[in-house]
Amino acid sequence: MLKGGVVKSTFSAQPTSDPGRQSASSQKDTPLRPLPTELTRPAVRLGGGYAQGGVRCLACVRRCLLRDGAVGYCTAVINHGGTLYNTAFGVIAEASVNTMESKPVFHYNPGARTLSLGGLGCNLRCSFCQNWEIAFRDARDAAGLTEPNLTPDAAVALALDQNCQALAWSHNEPSITPAYTLESARAARAAGLFTVYVTNGLITHEALTLLGPWLDVYRVDVKSLDTGFYRQVGGLDRISEVLPLARRAQHEFGIHVETVTNIMETMNDSDEHLARLAGRIVETLGADTPWHLTTYVPYAFMTHIPPTKPETLARTKTIGQREGLRFVYTDSLTDPDSANTRCPRCGALAIERTQSRVVIGALTPTGACAACGEPLGIRMAPATEHTYASI
Ligand code: SF4
Repeated sequence: MLKGGVVKSTFSAQPTSDPGRQSASSQKDTPLRPLPTELTRPAVRLGGGYAQGGVRCLACVRRCLLRDGAVGYCTAVINHGGTLYNTAFGVIAEASVNTMESKPVFHYNPGARTLSLGGLGCNLRCSFCQNWEIAFRDARDAAGLTEPNLTPDAAVALALDQNCQALAWSHNEPSITPAYTLESARAARAAGLFTVYVTNGLITHEALTLLGPWLDVYRVDVKSLDTGFYRQVGGLDRISEVLPLARRAQHEFGIHVETVTNIMETMNDSDEHLARLAGRIVETLGADTPWHLTTYVPYAFMTHIPPTKPETLARTKTIGQREGLRFVYTDSLTDPDSANTRCPRCGALAIERTQSRVVIGALTPTGACAACGEPLGIRMAPATEHTYASI
């Protein structure tokens, strides 16, 4: 039975470290589901000739061109007989129940219980990835499963059974599994659940067009504005559309957007870069967009970068506020106010957050400051209670 925290599946296959390998040898052991046709395109003539049987995947910005039998960089997409399929459809490697704040999402139904799901594979290879054990895993190595272990309907049933208000795709990058995300989002909406898309932002406009109508929250990483940073730590530098896509999610589909930057000493923490980044968020998404600053923890293949100092987080928060962002949060352990929501106009404590509790204070049911009436841009569900115990 799921409680709070992470529950791992019982996969026994060993991780592989060969993304994009050109073999379909283990594909027969994993459940497949065609990608939505909107996210596939037959290969076009390029220069001298056709890529025989080639199909381009439009699910993420890598836009892999896959010949028959080839697997995409993420290992979650395969060309099988000229059709692109998601490998390991519904194979969930991690599931956890927590609050919306754990994503982190602070301005959408605060304290709402959320079922978070993660599969295998990713379109980045961040050398500091906290979830590398599933994100770097070959999506076809699902312990020989021939059936999904959590179909979209089963995911929704599990969320309801756990008394959750939301379903989130998290832990690994959801843009690589559009077939599963789309089906489970539709099922979640039909059951009255909110949907939360936790992404590195490297999806395509085509994918957002498809998924946008079914998403309520878009929580996006903005790791850096510099392509060199992404190239160095993640192996991909096509980041020009990360913020424009978030803006499109916000404006075209009315999706609630929050941003996250993991602050890394010497890598993305110069005053000049942080000011540029905060300014770009204000300019693209608006001053009320929450900016979450998280502590870098040495991990995986990047242990030579030290943990982020609390002073660096505090400095970044000041820069963000100076650039006009009204809600900048940190996970600093030395600042007890770092995760609280205060009214930027009168300073009243609207929401208090600790490790285990989310307590609504001076906040109206419409998400405004109860002390001075200032709109805070917080979306509240009618059923949101005012105090949540830990889970
Ligand atoms: S989801 Fe991205 S990485 Fe995976 S096959 Fe498609 S374009 Fe390539």
